[in-house]
Amino acid sequence: LSDRLGGVFDRLTKQGALSEDDVTAAMREVRTALLEADVSLPVARSFVKSITAKATGAAVTRSVTPGQQVVKIVHDELIKVLQGEGEPDTLRIDNPPAPILMVGLQGSGKTTTTAKLAKRLKDREKKRVLMASLDTNRPAAMEQLAILGQQIGVDTLPIIKGESAVQIAKRAKQQASLGGYDVYMLDTAGRLHIDETLMDEVQAVRDVANPRETMLVVDGLTGQDAVNVATEFDQKVGVSGVVLTRMDGDGRGGAALSMRAVTGKPIRFVGLGEKMDALEAFDAQRIAGRILGMGDIVALVERAQEVLEVEQAERMMKRFQKGLFNMNDLKNQLEQMQKMGGMQSIMGMMPGMAKMAKQAEQAGMDDSVIRRQVALINSMTKKERANPDLLQASRKKRIAAGAGMEVAELNRLLKMQKQMADTMKKLGKMGKGGMLKQAMR
Ligand code: GDP
Ligand code: MG
Repeated sequence: LSDRLGGVFDRLTKQGALSEDDVTAAMREVRTALLEADVSLPVARSFVKSITAKATGAAVTRSVTPGQQVVKIVHDELIKVLQGEGEPDTLRIDNPPAPILMVGLQGSGKTTTTAKLAKRLKDREKKRVLMASLDTNRPAAMEQLAILGQQIGVDTLPIIKGESAVQIAKRAKQQASLGGYDVYMLDTAGRLHIDETLMDEVQAVRDVANPRETMLVVDGLTGQDAVNVATEFDQKVGVSGVVLTRMDGDGRGGAALSMRAVTGKPIRFVGLGEKMDALEAFDAQRIAGRILGMGDIVALVERAQEVLEVEQAERMMKRFQKGLFNMNDLKNQLEQMQKMGGMQSIMGMMPGMAKMAKQAEQAGMDDSVIRRQVALINSMTKKERANPDLLQASRKKRIAAGAGMEVAELNRLLKMQKQMADTMKKLGKMGKGGMLKQAMR
């Protein structure tokens, strides 16, 4: 392992915090990357601005350059924006028959996506789905949906010539109720551009069907225009989610960020080809990497951060092997626990600690206790942390008061540290090839 790490440490540069200049320089590149990925200019601009403030002053991991660190920060923020918060991860299709309205420009992939989604609902959620084409302008479009339906084994509403979109929607609703369908999907007609007639028609259909989900289908290769389309449809019809098609192409998917940032609407699915199973749930991480186009840098920084953690762990292991375990070590352990989200996980991995973890749990030790213990350690002096045996009664009182706690709580902490130090001493005596080393590997 250390051989492998050696290479990275040879290239160690300075460790520190990101200066404003570092960030500004890196941001120029990030902005270019975003624009090249077809993120709309205002969105790219405001994204860069907000991240500049956040990144300045952030710590730089050793062995990467400040610019690389900035890219990683941008990447993480991109994921956050794309992912959104508190959104349901399934479509709202309870209360059968649940109507799903499919809207978007002509050629965006509505009809294809309607069938793909129907297949997904049928295969994965065992739903009975009825599809109806409302594209009265082009008879071929109705045929297209019927053919797809046959292919995937999903029913389509029989075609009756001369009906209006609203009439078809009414019939679909009726048929879905009578036929005991779970879901009915309305594939609307598109136009090459947004126009009044189209919007009026979609609105009328919406009012008849009262859809549970209104999915906007957008061609992932269209960049700047996607924002206008999404805004318009959302204002006029109300959109609940977005499907981004043609993500199997060369486009870098900047439309995803633009639409998300401007409309706040979640991207639910991406289309990855013409085949009926080429539809996947939206994966923010994947799209973020693609938009930024700097996946190698992101991976490098992640690796460097891991190396740093390994290095820290190895340093600690060396101390433990010598039977050393002071308050700094305990603090480290406690913080690790907080990070890993539980006592059991980390203590359970160390020999002799499983029992202690159980005791701690029985004593009601949870995250809030861990936080309090870290606060106690923080209010000790450097010397006291390195050698807690030095603590006198008067200092104990001060420390406890400083952290806003009782002395009893400090005593419990001291006892815990002592027990762990004893365990370390015992384990350390077992020699170099001993249990501890094995357990930490
Ligand atoms: P609509 O006019 O919005 O109904 O668009 P269609 O569903 O008819 O799709 C137009 C064309 O785009 C068809 O040839 C589809 O096969 C193709 N298409 C749709 N989705 C995708 C996708 O995710 N990837 C690729 N490569 N082609 C797609
Ligand atoms: Mg169509």
